[in-house]
Amino acid sequence: MLVAKKMANRYDDCDMRATFANIYMGNLRNNIEQIRSRLAPGVRLCIPVKADAYGHGAVPVAHTAVECGADYLAVAAVSEGVKLRKAGITIPILVLSLPQPSEFTEIIERHLTPSLCDSELVRMLNVTATAMGRKVPVHLKVDTGMGRIGCTAEEAPELARLIASSQGVRLDGVFTHFAVSDSLLPADVDYTRQQIETFRQVVSRIRQLGIEPGICHAANSAAVLQYPESHFDMVRPGLAVYGYYPGDITEDYLNGNGGFVNLRPMMDVRSSIVAVRQVRKGESISYGRQWVAEQDCQVGVIPAGYGDGLLRRYGESLQVTINGRLYPVVGRICMDQCMICLGTDSPVSRWDEVIIFGPKEHGALQSAQDIADKAGTISYEIICGIDQRVPRVYRDE
Ligand SMILES: *Cc1c(COP(=O)(O)O)cnc(C)c1O
Repeated sequence: MLVAKKMANRYDDCDMRATFANIYMGNLRNNIEQIRSRLAPGVRLCIPVKADAYGHGAVPVAHTAVECGADYLAVAAVSEGVKLRKAGITIPILVLSLPQPSEFTEIIERHLTPSLCDSELVRMLNVTATAMGRKVPVHLKVDTGMGRIGCTAEEAPELARLIASSQGVRLDGVFTHFAVSDSLLPADVDYTRQQIETFRQVVSRIRQLGIEPGICHAANSAAVLQYPESHFDMVRPGLAVYGYYPGDITEDYLNGNGGFVNLRPMMDVRSSIVAVRQVRKGESISYGRQWVAEQDCQVGVIPAGYGDGLLRRYGESLQVTINGRLYPVVGRICMDQCMICLGTDSPVSRWDEVIIFGPKEHGALQSAQDIADKAGTISYEIICGIDQRVPRVYRDE
């Protein structure tokens, strides 16, 4: 037990380091407000704080979200929900992934709201809850086209009936998830519209059975911004709350379509130049000797690498900002360090601050989105990937 605890807090002994991340809580408040401005009155807001709030720190983000009027939080794992309860969060917490029977007691004791999607889970949870003398709120997950978890549209009404008629559980909500709501390709738009329609029919069939479905919800960030008809009773925007535009739903696109929202990234990752080396023409840099100086130049060393979340495959497409200028990484990114080319006669000197990525307003010339575009991935993966070894510094801005 002691070992497990130590592991969970493995960097708590020393939280200052040359490499750190600023988390701008003011931007979180801004983003929540911006998103709320797109919702009809009465539509509830559920903020996903899974994966440590996409790398921003689940507990501080959850507290601020509650202050900003969030109605629900969502997590992926029961352990994430428990962590929030221990930190004093009292609003409902929806667990988006399917629970295991071994987690039922914890779910019930911690007042978490599980997602269920089959009769076996409903019956098993009902047995545990009844034995504990409790009536557990659950959300029924319907798969309308994501192909991940959820019952079919046809099964949903019967499952709703089973839940409604079981002593130990109660139907608190029904939800679904979109597969391509962030795409503007006509076929994908049709697919999303079909998912919305299927979900609408599921909800109405449940009502026709005389069963109150509770809170109906479907929209992720992209759907919040692009499909107002998908908002139903509650929305679940994750990425947008953290300040990024999903997929094709870019800032420019929204600008041209009257649906502009001003989202500001919440995170920047900073470090500093810990050494400047004079490199002569023909000398190589880093593992594999992939980069060879074509002329005499200066190379800066930054104490951040893939052990911090700067993926090795970003390679030389990664650029960092120093005093308002971009400098490329050269040679392979190592576990704990990477090198950048400063050219000849560079104004950069040892101990200068480096911004690896971040919001423009805070001086970064490269965003997590830019890195994602160049590395063939999505901004989610960049921000979630910043390791716990990088201390988070919370700011009011
Ligand atoms: C992660 C997740 C969301 C949030 O998605 P974003 O694209 O980050 O807005 C919403 N719903 C479910 C079920 C999820 O797993």
